Amino acid sequence: MAKTVLVTGASSGIGKATAIYLAQNGYQVYGAARRLNRLQELNTFGIIPISLDVTKEESIEACVASIGSVDILINSAGLGSYGALEDVPIPEAKNQMEINLFGVARLIQLVLPQMRKNRYGKIVNISSVGGKMGLPMGSWYHASKFALEGMSDCLRNEVRQFGIDVIVIEPGGTQSEMMAIGAENMQRVSKKSVYSNLATGIQKMYANMEKNAAAPIVVARLIKKGIEAKHPKTRYI
Ligand code: NDP
Repeated sequence: MAKTVLVTGASSGIGKATAIYLAQNGYQVYGAARRLNRLQELNTFGIIPISLDVTKEESIEACVASIGSVDILINSAGLGSYGALEDVPIPEAKNQMEINLFGVARLIQLVLPQMRKNRYGKIVNISSVGGKMGLPMGSWYHASKFALEGMSDCLRNEVRQFGIDVIVIEPGGTQSEMMAIGAENMQRVSKKSVYSNLATGIQKMYANMEKNAAAPIVVARLIKKGIEAKHPKTRYI
């Protein structure tokens, strides 16, 4: 029987490419995000759209309940918001943590009981090369990804005994909406911040990254490789 996959962030970028690629390769895919209109486009691939806001408990619970049993959870929903630590208001930073860390954790909590019962499960967390190193203007994004990597490593050691694998994906620059949001944020900081000297350099680096960004399908292929490996690596870069 086809494995059931829940892909978050399926309305765009890496999540969308992964949902389509897995659907084309025989998986039963549920694609979740807030923009349902975007998800409807995935119907043609047999992907079932689900409304999901990973910052809202009721929404997360309803999403998982509507599927029932999730064999493979791919956490691709994410926010890349930038600015110097001194400049970013704490509520904005908390929102980023809610999406990139707590939303992921809550989804995992809800799919684990069924995975344990089935003695089968794959949890794929999309981190970033930014989960390994910090750059100026990225404190909260990098903090969220470092935290995600630490959480994934601890979880892996907890759930291995139940036949569940935890896989971390660390993409480099990838073509998606996130790239545009990052560039917009950089313009915001470069105009008003006392750190504008750094912002200009980082802005150039991001522009370069955007120019050389990989297509999201490259990451989708890595994810498929991870979930199909008998003994997956802990990280795919
Ligand atoms: P996109 O901006 O293209 O996609 C982000 C996705 O997250 C969208 O589908 C969006 O859907 C969803 N999302 C955002 N907020 C919420 C929310 N509150 N609830 C539910 N869904 C939400 O970015 P990418 O595809 O590039 O990003 C995917 C992952 O890859 C992220 O975790 C990112 O950090 C990581 N990554 C990206 C890199 C890149 O260069 N692009 C590099 C390294 C890592 P909607 O708005 O419809 O809810």
